[in-house]
Amino acid sequence: MAELVQALPDPALVIGREGGVMLANALAAAVLEANPSGRHLSASLRVPAVLEAVQAVAGGEEAAAVEYEIRVPMPRSFRAHVAPLGRGGAVLLVLRDLTREQQIERMRADFVANASHELRTPLTALSGFLETIQGAARDDEKAQAKFLGLMRSQAERMRRLIDDLLSLSRIEMNEHVKPSGEVDLAQAAAHVRDVLSGMARESGCELALTGEGPLTVPGSRDELVQVIQNLVENAIKYGSSGKRVEMVLGREGGFAEITVRDFGPGIAAEHIPRLTERFYRVNVQESRSRGGTGLGLAIVKHIVNRHRGRLLIASTPGEGSAFTVRLPLKT
Ligand code: ADP
Repeated sequence: MAELVQALPDPALVIGREGGVMLANALAAAVLEANPSGRHLSASLRVPAVLEAVQAVAGGEEAAAVEYEIRVPMPRSFRAHVAPLGRGGAVLLVLRDLTREQQIERMRADFVANASHELRTPLTALSGFLETIQGAARDDEKAQAKFLGLMRSQAERMRRLIDDLLSLSRIEMNEHVKPSGEVDLAQAAAHVRDVLSGMARESGCELALTGEGPLTVPGSRDELVQVIQNLVENAIKYGSSGKRVEMVLGREGGFAEITVRDFGPGIAAEHIPRLTERFYRVNVQESRSRGGTGLGLAIVKHIVNRHRGRLLIASTPGEGSAFTVRLPLKT
């Protein structure tokens, strides 16, 4: 019996008829307040509902499950399964940690709420413009042309959002699958420079690429181009006041690095750890007015994770920001 309890994958205890702990595995000793062995259960688990259930089952009632939460040392939630063991009044108590499951469930619910809200905003604007075109502006061609232009930009925004949501879900689905191809980061960066030099020029920014290739890493070209492109687009969108955006290639130990640096307003330290959360923006209005979806850096983070790399963010308010992607070089 002791070996069986020890082998269970969850914290498990065998409790005698009077409530004394007869056996407890190492996992139980780790999650309970005190080492439970040889003591009364109430000395290590102060949850009245669980103690009552154990007593009831020891007294002949059927197996039961009780959910409970603890606050210290960290908030965690558990489900306690209480089942009779034989006829002598002994009870098997198995604790299942629900914390992670509930966290994921909450994140999923938040994500659906956020995504719906993000999609509803342009939709509400579209309906409003339609109403105006059919109503107040019915006979005003000039106003109609203006509203149609605005509607187009709202429709574009919905399209961008849906594209980003789909990319994110595709990448998340593959996150645990190692990418199969090989990519020269220098060549990918040169491609991004060519694609975005027009956008940079329109924003009054110089876009420079420095550092020597080739820097070959195992990976998906499309995905790594998307990473560099998202970072450079952000640098132009938010940092164009610095007039210059740099992509710097480098090599450090067994890693290839690309840093995208701008000399714009920078980002206050408290925001930095949260930038890669979906829909997190420092300034929602500013992001929207620049065509942002709040998903760009979440996509970057997932792609970098999939490539077993790291994303490092450094910024000094007033001086600019640097986003570095570090990827293992091909061996
Ligand atoms: P968005 O679509 O809003 O640009 P991202 O996930 O790409 O979403 O970026 C999240 C937020 O991080 C942006 O809204 C912006 O507030 C901030 N940010 C990203 N890059 C920069 C940068 N280079 N300079 C200043 N702020 C930035």
